[in-house]
Order: sequence, then C-alpha cells, then structure tokens
Amino acid sequence: MSLEAKVLSGAADCIFCRIVSGEIAAQVVYEDKQTIAFNDVNPVAPVHVLVIPRAHSPAVKAIDDAGLAALLHSAHQVAALKGVAESGYRLVFNLGDDGGQTVFHTHLHVLGGRRMTWPPG
Ligand code: 5GP
Ligand code: ZN
Repeated sequence: MSLEAKVLSGAADCIFCRIVSGEIAAQVVYEDKQTIAFNDVNPVAPVHVLVIPRAHSPAVKAIDDAGLAALLHSAHQVAALKGVAESGYRLVFNLGDDGGQTVFHTHLHVLGGRRMTWPPG
C-alpha cells in the first residue's frame, strides 16, 4: 500500500490518525511529507511535543529505517523551533505496557525546557 493510501485509510479508532486527518485539532509545531509534530495535550515539561508518522503503525518496532530517520529529523527540527537545541532535550519512545505506551500510533516524545532526571519514572 502506498504512503498516501495508508494515510487516507488511517485507523478509524486511532486518535493520532484523527489528528493527521484534521478531524481532531492539535497545536502543530512542525510538519513535513512523512511526519507531523504537535504539542502534547498533557505536557510533562515546558517543551513536550509528539512527533508522529502520518501513516498509522501501532508502535516504533513496526517502523522501517527510513521512517525512523524521518521521525528523528522531525524531532531535531522541533528542538530547534522550540529553542532547546542548545540547552538539550530528551527523545522518548514508550513501547508496550511496561514502556508506558498509552496511544498505539507510533510517536516520539520531544521533552525539554527543564533538567531531566535519571532514572525515568
Ligand atoms: P504514550 O504514553 O503513549 O507514550 O504517550 C501518549 C501521549 O499522547 C501522552 O503524553 C498524552 O498526553 C498524549 N495525548 C493523548 N491524547 C492526545 C490528544 O488528543 N492530543 C494531544 N495533543 N496529545 C494527546
Ligand atoms: Zn493511527
């Protein structure tokens, strides 16, 4: 299936597919052919942006190398646009139950604007 066909079909019950289609509003920070980045509705840091592929996939383990590169490229654009490229930021994929994943459309968290702690909770 082509990328365009995947985007059009989406997943009817997927909240992030509905953001891609414009059915649900989001504060878009950056977008390109393959990805969209928007502010998280429940931010845990001054900068908290989600980068998602336009095409539905349930989790990052289903993404190919080119898709992963597109997500990382988009995340670095977001960091620059949000002014945290120099101060630093954290990129997070939550994967599966123990990983804390709650939305099953692949997404990369871009977190910044404060000092992150380690280990994560
Ligand atoms: P996860 O826990 O799956 O890694 O992250 C899902 C993220 O999506 C959470 O941080 C949550 O706040 C965010 N989120 C869930 N629903 C929406 C929504 O409708 N709009 C936006 N902008 N973010 C959402
Ligand atoms: Zn989806």
